[in-house]
Amino acid sequence: MYRHCTFCSKDLGTNQVLEAFPVGRRLAFDAHQGRLWVVCPTCERWNLTPLEERWEAVEGCERHFREVEYHARKLGWGYAPLQSLPAHIRLALEMGAHEDQERAAAQGELARLGARWREGEEG
Ligand SMILES: [Zn+2]
Repeated sequence: MYRHCTFCSKDLGTNQVLEAFPVGRRLAFDAHQGRLWVVCPTCERWNLTPLEERWEAVEGCERHFREVEYHARKLGWGYAPLQSLPAHIRLALEMGAHEDQERAAAQGELARLGARWREGEEG
């Protein structure tokens, strides 16, 4: 299991939310394709995780998002100040901020994202 960004070699951080995949403070996942990325806190690039480490972690992500959504509805949160939330919920919301990007990827826009990455690497 890698712990450093493949682009800038900085530490990717850790999380205590996913037992199956404790690397990375910010994760993005595509449950449909079984892909999981760790978003680098330093350079913001997405590190695709090795295939053998993904499936359980992707399932964990899905479970966690559902849990957070449930709690948020139950408590009537539209938008809550992050500091007022329990630590594991806060982390999940941080991961949830990438849901739009994930949806875009699932809709076949992954190539476009990749192109943008390559531009960033060349620039
Ligand atoms: Zn990086």
